Amino acid sequence: MTMDAARLSRAYAALGALTPMTGDCGALCGAACCRPDEDGQGGVHLFPGERALLEDRDWCRVLPSAFAPVMLCDGACERDRRPLGCRIFPLTPVRGRDGRWTVRMDARARAMCPLVRSGVKGLDPAFVRAVRDALRIVAEDPEGDAFLDAWAALEAEYRKPLW
Ligand code: SF4
Ligand code: SF4
Repeated sequence: MTMDAARLSRAYAALGALTPMTGDCGALCGAACCRPDEDGQGGVHLFPGERALLEDRDWCRVLPSAFAPVMLCDGACERDRRPLGCRIFPLTPVRGRDGRWTVRMDARARAMCPLVRSGVKGLDPAFVRAVRDALRIVAEDPEGDAFLDAWAALEAEYRKPLW
């Protein structure tokens, strides 16, 4: 079983064309989050069900990883096919005290994203709401909910001091 395409479509639709800022934030940083690493690597973990949506695309490849399949691209994509991990960046899911999913800045964005400095409050509020809604749609599925727990645990590793 994997999360069905209809649920992913609903999550994508919740986000629509919203981006972190009302303008093109890529102009601030040269689209840093879409640039491959120096070694041509760097990728985005795929949510359950997304692998099948990307298998036949010529602008990306999908590799296995211990956590979840990873998509690697060369910095250009069909926007309506980009994975959820790209759509929600620089936010990441975190479970609130009430058990519901909400968002915070992704620790992995610190290295590249100028929006981190102003925090969640500096982003377009409509985008923040939409990311929260999209994550809650994913979480309606038990597999999606478990995946968000695993995603949040992985992201939390990047918050730990190195020594
Ligand atoms: S790194 Fe941050 S500011 Fe730059 S394109 Fe990505 S989300 Fe926007
Ligand atoms: S799939 Fe698109 S949005 Fe995601 S990193 Fe690649 S170019 Fe950027």
